[in-house]
Amino acid sequence: MGFDYDLFVIGGGSGGVRAARMAAATGAKVGLAEDSRMGGTCVIRGCVPKKIMVFASSFPDAMREASAYGWGAEVGPFDWPAFRTRLHAELDRLEGVYRGLLDGAGVPLHDHPARLALAHTVVLADGTRFRARHILIATGGAPDRPDLPNARLGWVSDDIFGMERLPESILIVGGGFIACEMACILAGLGVKVTQFYRGAQILRGFDDEARGLVAEAMKAQGIDLHTGTNILAMGPDGTAPTIPVGEAMAPAHEAPPGAPGPIRVKATNGSEQVFDAVLFATGRRPNSAGLGLEDIGVQIGRRGEVVVDDFSQTAVPSIFAVGDVTNRINLTPVAIREAMAFVATVFEGRPTPVDHALVASAVFTRPELGTVGLTEEEARGQEEIEVYCTSFRPMRSAFAGDMSRVLMKLVVSRATRRVLGCHIVAPEAGEMIQLAAIAVKMGATKEDFDRTMAVHPTMAEELVTMRKPVRTA
Ligand code: NDP
Repeated sequence: MGFDYDLFVIGGGSGGVRAARMAAATGAKVGLAEDSRMGGTCVIRGCVPKKIMVFASSFPDAMREASAYGWGAEVGPFDWPAFRTRLHAELDRLEGVYRGLLDGAGVPLHDHPARLALAHTVVLADGTRFRARHILIATGGAPDRPDLPNARLGWVSDDIFGMERLPESILIVGGGFIACEMACILAGLGVKVTQFYRGAQILRGFDDEARGLVAEAMKAQGIDLHTGTNILAMGPDGTAPTIPVGEAMAPAHEAPPGAPGPIRVKATNGSEQVFDAVLFATGRRPNSAGLGLEDIGVQIGRRGEVVVDDFSQTAVPSIFAVGDVTNRINLTPVAIREAMAFVATVFEGRPTPVDHALVASAVFTRPELGTVGLTEEEARGQEEIEVYCTSFRPMRSAFAGDMSRVLMKLVVSRATRRVLGCHIVAPEAGEMIQLAAIAVKMGATKEDFDRTMAVHPTMAEELVTMRKPVRTA
């Protein structure tokens, strides 16, 4: 029996759309199904709206600085509804762009949930069946709530972009990317933010010195950060729900959470407080349920991830998976690279494993944390190292009387002289680490950094002017 498609993609996010377009460009006949909005987590309820909110939240600081620089600037009120309307218009535009990209590539889009019936058969929710030579699972991930009575009263990150109004106070639970970014964003927008993190220091897995400085900066901007603390119990305080969740933004596969009113929270540190809202930023799980994968022999891991090999192939040879649903490195650019490697392997005759080494990333806190390679703690466990590190008050904010500091850090192998890790805490660290990552990925040594002329006056010039190690280990 013939095939309707050479490739059928389930999921219209960054990975799925890239794979569909590139496979179609090789002449393959490609179809795609998406059960929610096109663009996926990154475009609709992740990186893009988050970054726009980062920009929105940065203006009070900028205005305070402007005033110190002599401008007659004052921080006025923030109009959340006006901002939200504009934000959603932008997301609508981007979704249109994604639909247009598929259309332009000649890929029909099926706006339905899809599942697998056989190794080559996809069934849409409306009963339509397709036979495909290859099937790509690119269904991403979704926020997880802790297993706690009344946890449905709390928001997850998806809900933030649909809020009807800003809460006056919020408790953010978690210490990872989303918790720390949302804490800084909401604090910047004027919300009174409390953050509970169960461990000893936020941003587990990042360089200790860098995470320490971010935590210090977050506290300095008024975030009430409690480490070693979690929710013991939570429940409604009073009856009237005051902050309806924006249903338009709720993912189609999940009912919108209960609209929170004031929420009373008992903490493991003994305190009891009422918050206008609670946000769970306690991790994400792969969207693999309900796809019929296990029934046809696709292996699913402990956290719900689709298990794949280096070529993103599952245990069923016709089925591949890329992006967050595989829970490898859950970042948009990684999903895109995985998609491109999949197309090279399957449609271009060039078997291409995905290179997951030395992936740079940035946490968009205020200031940002940019990182690539090994942390000092990881490197110490592997070989003898030298640590080059400097922390200082940058010119721009120091001039305005701000005491905040930035950090530039290199972790260097004593044996090979290679820079094993680079960690930056500074405004625009995301931009800086992208460039440093090229050198680190190329295998640059400390001496390569040293013979690079500084760009003056900048913050990043410190990366090429640190002469003496602060520590050896
Ligand atoms: P993370 O895995 O980064 O953080 C989850 C946090 O929640 C951790 O601090 C974890 O603690 C804590 N936690 C987990 N379970 C519980 C629980 N039951 N009770 C209390 N705390 C709990 O997940 P995020 O949701 O922040 O982000 C998911 C992924 O999305 C990231 O890992 C990243 O890959 C990606 N992302 C990337 C961004 C970027 O590139 N800027 C931005 C946002 C997301 P513990 O440390 O103890 O495990």
